[in-house]
Amino acid sequence: MLTKSKIYLSSPHMGGSEQKFVNEAFTTNWIAPLGPNVNGFENDIEHYIGGDKHVAALASGTAAIHLALQLLNVSQGDEVLCQSFTFSASANPIVYQGASPIFIDSEPDTWNMSPELLEIAIQDRIQKYKKPKAIVATHLYGMPYKAKEINAVAKKYDIPVVEDSAEALGSRYHNNYCGTLSDIGVFSFNGNKIITTSGGGAIVVNSKEQKDKAIFLSTQARDNAPHYEHSTIGHNYRMSNVLAGIGRGQMEVLEEHVAARRRNFEFYKKHLSKFNSISFLEEPENFFSNRWITCITTDSYELREGMRLALQEDDIESRPLWKPMHMQPVFKDSIYFANGISEDLFNRGLCLPSGSNLTEDDLHRVLNILIEFLNL
Ligand SMILES: *Cc1c(COP(=O)(O)O)cnc(C)c1O
Repeated sequence: MLTKSKIYLSSPHMGGSEQKFVNEAFTTNWIAPLGPNVNGFENDIEHYIGGDKHVAALASGTAAIHLALQLLNVSQGDEVLCQSFTFSASANPIVYQGASPIFIDSEPDTWNMSPELLEIAIQDRIQKYKKPKAIVATHLYGMPYKAKEINAVAKKYDIPVVEDSAEALGSRYHNNYCGTLSDIGVFSFNGNKIITTSGGGAIVVNSKEQKDKAIFLSTQARDNAPHYEHSTIGHNYRMSNVLAGIGRGQMEVLEEHVAARRRNFEFYKKHLSKFNSISFLEEPENFFSNRWITCITTDSYELREGMRLALQEDDIESRPLWKPMHMQPVFKDSIYFANGISEDLFNRGLCLPSGSNLTEDDLHRVLNILIEFLNL
């Protein structure tokens, strides 16, 4: 009997030239966290996102968020406003800095940070403590957040925005790329993201000076001296030249990956939206999502769990939507501003297999399980 292989939520998808760039690193002996692939990968990203942005390649998206907070001088005793509906890596670096996250719930149109709650939170914190030092907003699942509204609130109170675009490389908002819409942008190239370097990330900044500062901090903050001289605490956060080779190959196929992921979304929508119990998040006008993961919302927790377990039975991976940070045990003492939206999405939502390497057969296998279950 033919054994079916496991279908993953989002697995790495190599384009073809990755190994060529990796081999170049070996033949030239650039096996180090610097070299031609690192520079080339940064150039590729800068060229892709356009504008006058500067990009530094790092060891992870988490490292990029951590450095972003340091560039904004977030420190002990500060508060940072953070989207609650996100992956924990958006919030953890706030704690690394000795600061406290203040969690903000989502609005229903994009599932991202609510501009209204953001303003309420800022006013509350100013009144009760002091002005928050920064805002971390996420383009969750590739859907851009309401950047105009978030930026307007941020500007009104003069608070900088860190844009967590870990899931949104290739997404656009009014024709500008996610990662370029705020003061500092962040990408991730973890194995499950739209392109991968196996592990990696990047920070997007507005000036050469900021880029140099990010690189300085990511390479142990060595002062200019013949010996090792340090006047700042640094990190080992730079990207390896070997892994940057994978990134260069992946940049060649990024647009194909975006197109494939958007096709996955259209496929699921076409076949599942006839069920009244299933709905899909549409793009507001002038929002372009890379559809990193296709998410559905169901009628109830029970229906969602039923679908998830039916898929699991056939060795198909699916997963509930992100559990909001304000509901996480590790952040139980954090202040939050909630409206029930992310909690409801967490209870009823499901992430479906969404890799750019899924075959037509894979998609139909997932669909058949779901339809069979929904028709019961
Ligand atoms: C993946 C991810 C990160 C962290 O990126 P790593 O490269 O895994 O450290 C941060 N935020 C969000 C929203 C992510 O999905």
